[in-house]
Amino acid sequence: MPENLTEQTTTIPAAEASTATDVESTATPVDDGVDIRFTDLNLDGRVLAALSDVGYEKPSPIQAATIPALLDGRDVVGLAQTGTGKTAAFAIPALSKMAELADVNGGPSKNTQVLVLAPTRELALQVAEAFTSYAKHMDGFTVLPVYGGSPYGPQLNGLRRGAQVVVGTPGRVIDHITKGSLDLSNLEYVVLDEADEMLRMGFAEDVEQILSSTPDEKQVALFSATMPPAIRRIAKKYLNDPAEISVKGKTTTGTNTRQRYLQVMGPHKLDALTRILEVEDYDGIIAFVRTKMATEDLADKLRSRGFSAAAINGDIPQQQRERTVEALRDGTIDILVATDVAARGLDVDRISLVVNYDIPHDTESYVHRIGRTGRAGRSGDAILFITPREKYLLRSIEKATRQPVEQMQLPSPAKLNELRLGKFADRITQTLSGEDVSLFRDLIANYEQEHNVPANEIAAALAVMAQGGQPILVQDIPVAPAGQRERAEGRKDGFGSRGPTRTLTEGNATYRIAVGRRQRVMPGSIVGAIANEGGLSSAQIGGIDIRADHSLVELPADLSKDQLRALSRTRIGGELIHLELDKGRKPAGGRGAGEFKKPYRKDNPKRDGDTRFSGDASRKPRQNKGAGAGNGRSSAQSEQY
Ligand code: ADP
Ligand code: MG
Repeated sequence: MPENLTEQTTTIPAAEASTATDVESTATPVDDGVDIRFTDLNLDGRVLAALSDVGYEKPSPIQAATIPALLDGRDVVGLAQTGTGKTAAFAIPALSKMAELADVNGGPSKNTQVLVLAPTRELALQVAEAFTSYAKHMDGFTVLPVYGGSPYGPQLNGLRRGAQVVVGTPGRVIDHITKGSLDLSNLEYVVLDEADEMLRMGFAEDVEQILSSTPDEKQVALFSATMPPAIRRIAKKYLNDPAEISVKGKTTTGTNTRQRYLQVMGPHKLDALTRILEVEDYDGIIAFVRTKMATEDLADKLRSRGFSAAAINGDIPQQQRERTVEALRDGTIDILVATDVAARGLDVDRISLVVNYDIPHDTESYVHRIGRTGRAGRSGDAILFITPREKYLLRSIEKATRQPVEQMQLPSPAKLNELRLGKFADRITQTLSGEDVSLFRDLIANYEQEHNVPANEIAAALAVMAQGGQPILVQDIPVAPAGQRERAEGRKDGFGSRGPTRTLTEGNATYRIAVGRRQRVMPGSIVGAIANEGGLSSAQIGGIDIRADHSLVELPADLSKDQLRALSRTRIGGELIHLELDKGRKPAGGRGAGEFKKPYRKDNPKRDGDTRFSGDASRKPRQNKGAGAGNGRSSAQSEQY
């Protein structure tokens, strides 16, 4: 059982649970003092067997308190934060009762007896999966999830075949009721799961409509993390003398989630994040941002820096969202970038880090966010990016989580470099010990002989190739506005504005961006944006020539596809810069961009011998450029970006 559940100690004996109860978490864990076990709860043996299969050892506090009340047939309001085990709290008693009823009737009835309403497809699926796992040893039981955004066919078939438990999103459930495909006349038990979230998503009316189309004689349970007045109203109207059970205090943020904050300015967040990810070992990561657009944006940027990241937000079709969550679960991706709503209730055990990339709107959201980690007994990390102006919010977060949030420091470049060099050395060791290197050994031996180059020189060249064009060492954080602005401006007069005299630095090329004086760009913002989004160090950015409606920038000729893609989507002052290799218009225009082509071409033969950025490709004669990868990028290709 997860530590966060065991650590939630309680002094509530099971018997008291059927009365209105407040389960207070005590500051000092009483070492399993009140040891309620599932076997104490009068549950059906098949359910108990399933619980032991899934590895639950003892009920969480909300379970210990609600299960007896629900078995008793009472309506229940269960209030507890995310991650406290609410699903099992309402599923276990329902299944236990159905199992016993089936015995009495000589087999389970096919009627729908249990209806669970959940706010999103993901949560509906999670609840359905949980039900299914707890019903594993019950014969002839079917749990059917029904949700919007997916075809009716399979759901209709499932309903026709009969499902004792239906878990659905409110909209789709209403559709099925209206179509006549969902018959609720034999319903015995309704659960409103994540009720506050359903409300927030605008489902209040739907929920009421569903509730009023169910039989009068039924049991109702309402589970929620919070209790806004509208939920209280629904509870009052539709629940009959409910047992109110609330587990107070920090439950998701057990001591197995370490909370830290990093003070960082907005434009440095991306660098800060990638540094942290590089230095610390994480499994699954979820990064929260404030807007839907920011989810896509950050996921794109992380991908262009080599991380496997994906975005989920409310605008993404549900099926795709579900696939993304699945990809996170099975390790196909490591980083999920999400809005609060899209990630609510997500239960993915491998999430070991929650990054509050943008600070949440309120402490409640913060608690929900960090509840995504430290699941199922693992330890979790939560990092909050906080700008100086947001710092005052820390106190209320500490209050809400009843836990200090430590300040953390960004890993220094020295530490990062040490780590990178160490990793590089490890890769060599691993390759030597794990791979068959004989073919290459012969090749190198031949090369050594033929070219009379010592082996360590060859190895160094290969190392550069292995780096794939990326510098191995980091420099300072690439965005240092003041210094760079000076430098960029200082170079400006030597570049671009004075006709064809100046040349490009070897290995560089001229790129065009679609913002200029008219958009009021400054060299500093160009350097900042390009360094940041392209993952370049300031030293890699050469001259900048700001013109009326575009600018020319000198950058390494062999930017990677990912860098180009990231840069083509970069914005300066809200405008997309559409960075592309400067195609050069007809030289006739005098000051036309074509001027830069000459030195660029002229430099090519030299560049062929230049191994600074990459291997093979740079050795190809320039004529091949239309055909190939890497440096062979042609201007025609760059247009695609
Ligand atoms: P909530 O709905 O309160 O957010 P969930 O029902 O999603 O919480 O449960 C959170 C996690 O805890 C799930 O991974 C679930 O399998 C696990 N869990 C629930 N109850 C127990 C228990 N008694 N012992 C161990 N793990 C449990
Ligand atoms: Mg839940």
